Amino acid sequence: MSPTHAPVGAARQGSLRELNLALVLGRIAAADRPPSRADLATATGLTRATVSAVVEDLLAGQLVSEAEPAPWAGAGRPARGLVLADQGPAGLGLEVNVDYLTVCVVDLAGQVRHRTVHRADLRPVAPEDALARLVDLARQARADAARQGLTLAGAALAVPGLIDDSGQVRLAPNLGWRDVPVPELLSAHPPLTDRVPDVPALVVDNEANLAALGELHSRPPGPASFLHISGEVGIGAGIVLDGALFRGVRGWSGEIGHLPVHPQGRPCRCGGRGCLEQYAGQEAIVAAAGLVRAELPADTATARLAELAEAGEPAALRALNDAGTALGVAVAGVVNLLDLDTVVLGGGYAPLAPWLCPPVLAEIKARVLTAAWSPVTVRPSTLGPEAAAVGAAGSVVRRIVARPAGWLNRAG
Ligand SMILES: [Zn+2]
Repeated sequence: MSPTHAPVGAARQGSLRELNLALVLGRIAAADRPPSRADLATATGLTRATVSAVVEDLLAGQLVSEAEPAPWAGAGRPARGLVLADQGPAGLGLEVNVDYLTVCVVDLAGQVRHRTVHRADLRPVAPEDALARLVDLARQARADAARQGLTLAGAALAVPGLIDDSGQVRLAPNLGWRDVPVPELLSAHPPLTDRVPDVPALVVDNEANLAALGELHSRPPGPASFLHISGEVGIGAGIVLDGALFRGVRGWSGEIGHLPVHPQGRPCRCGGRGCLEQYAGQEAIVAAAGLVRAELPADTATARLAELAEAGEPAALRALNDAGTALGVAVAGVVNLLDLDTVVLGGGYAPLAPWLCPPVLAEIKARVLTAAWSPVTVRPSTLGPEAAAVGAAGSVVRRIVARPAGWLNRAG
């Protein structure tokens, strides 16, 4: 959009147009079935003519498309509904974890259009080298997205650690990262996405937070309040209350892996003792099951545990039961404190949920005051092990939907 020769009142008109674009697109995104222009006029209170003009802009900008008309029993021609476009802008989701890198692309409608998981033990790898590998995967994702008619409009990166407002990773104990300037390191590479006003090129956030947001915005919608636990080598939690992530004062909430379950127990990487991670982290479960992690190809650990448990192997079953009991002790404390009725097991816990859920539920039953008349649901994540990367990409997409004018006004 050219900034020159703006007529008087253009700024005000511009902002009204931006509000209307966001209002109409938000209604289309939230609708259970594709709304017609008339439906949108009713729902927004805008005139039919305004809705039509806004929809034309959204169609031209590849933010929405017209759905096939539904079978129509009434008289006359069926009105065509509008849906979020499956071409146009998309979000890039990235995750660096202890033993894998994930890259995914999610379109406006929330569909995962590209997904790569690269397994490798990243602890011996310098942060800049791990990020360089991630950039390579992201480039491939960008090319694949372009082939599908998608343009990456922004990226979000999930890291299992404490991240400050500037996107620096202050501490990721299991990766061995401390004070890693992730945005600066990534800026040494060519951009991963197109430049779109109102959409940050890169957001860095905690992986448990992004996984919880992914779960919150998955379809069909789940509960508005829940605890989402990502069980990897470390254990993080995302706390969702009344439809919003509870981040804490500095954005560092959810460190459930360092809740003590045996106060005088095993020393932990955090400097404390007896932390949940030492009993229910992936390495702890693998060791308790008698598996030697080093002999497993990089992080087939979860799949191997599930296989052994499926086959009824006693050591694996005992290890999972003990881990579930420790997890249940911690979860019961959180449920008592926050009065939640849903606990979602995500990340590496998702495939192990059949064996983890029963002992977690047993501890909740024994320890949560209100459990007798208000049952707590414990279930695996609907997004599977890549929930954090999917949630990261979804966070980009929601930003585009909330402020579509940035995409429509972009240069080029
Ligand atoms: Zn700890």
